[in-house]
Amino acid sequence: MKPITEFFPQLSVPRKIVITMHQKPDPDAMGSSLALYHFLTQLNHTVTVISPTNWAAFLNWMPSSSDVLDYENNRQREKATEILKETDWLFCLDFNIIDRTKNLAPLINGLGCTKILIDHHQQPQTASFDYGISDVTKSSTSEMVYDFIVASGHEDKINTAIIECLYAGVIGDTGSFRHTSATESLHLMVAALKARGLDHTKVHDYIYDNFLENRLRFIGFVLLNRMEVFYEYNSALIAITKADLIRYEIKTGDTEGLVNYPLSIQGIKMAALVIDRDEERKWSFRSKGDFDVNLFARKNFNGGGHFNASGGRTYDSLEATVQRFKEALKENALQLQ
Ligand code: 5GP
Ligand code: MN
Repeated sequence: MKPITEFFPQLSVPRKIVITMHQKPDPDAMGSSLALYHFLTQLNHTVTVISPTNWAAFLNWMPSSSDVLDYENNRQREKATEILKETDWLFCLDFNIIDRTKNLAPLINGLGCTKILIDHHQQPQTASFDYGISDVTKSSTSEMVYDFIVASGHEDKINTAIIECLYAGVIGDTGSFRHTSATESLHLMVAALKARGLDHTKVHDYIYDNFLENRLRFIGFVLLNRMEVFYEYNSALIAITKADLIRYEIKTGDTEGLVNYPLSIQGIKMAALVIDRDEERKWSFRSKGDFDVNLFARKNFNGGGHFNASGGRTYDSLEATVQRFKEALKENALQLQ
């Protein structure tokens, strides 16, 4: 993978471009992709954003989100496939292993186009990309897209659509500036966005105050009935059944942020959430301080991510995967003290 700076000179010639991101895009994946879309279209490129799967309805306020193609949607897959086969460049945002694009992965692996990575996750598969930047010290891919725009000499192109999408990505990935990844340079970027007219209250409302009553009732139910605290390991687990999802009519995105709740209990260093989805048991892990949940997810749950925030998946039953989690707690007893 060549440094992304070597790619800048090519930006001046209009091209066909596809931007994609990890499956079930979160505010950072969708925000960074749409910000890059609004930047590249101003340079006269023909740009399409393709998501491997559907996404949370609370992202639908993002400018041009209605133009994003959902590869899992039967009515859009063919069009997305055609556009991908014709594209000159493929930007891969907020993931670094092609597998994280789920059903899109075989198609992407077969493309001969130029592939460009912009990402901040650990263990990048750099051999899969022609150009790129992979920086685990960055708060978010949205911060990296901001850096990309500035470094390419086009700061003047940063408009309201770009500002709102980038800010959404940043607050999503930093827990609204709580995590250690919210550095001085990130705050300087936000200051620059404010100077350009960012309405941060509006974006916070879009992301955090944009749900239906059922989701809040679901959270109450889950915290009361589905959370187990393991004080001997300073850890907690929330395990959600298929029936829970049906009972509360839970949709993509409604469980976003749920894994963080147990971390508000004094002394809890690691929180886990497992959801019994049709095709898999989807895990999320969050930690405080020096417990490495990237390693924990990679070793035990076919996953990865960041030091303090990771995810994974298993294909056994909910009961079996919860049992495995409890064994993994025992194996990590020392690190969790
Ligand atoms: P979340 O819990 O929000 O789904 O994911 C937390 C972090 O871990 C995100 O940065 C996400 O990209 C990463 N992540 C989630 N699931 C997986 C997975 O199955 N594999 C890998 N490598 N990373 C994951
Ligand atoms: Mn991210």
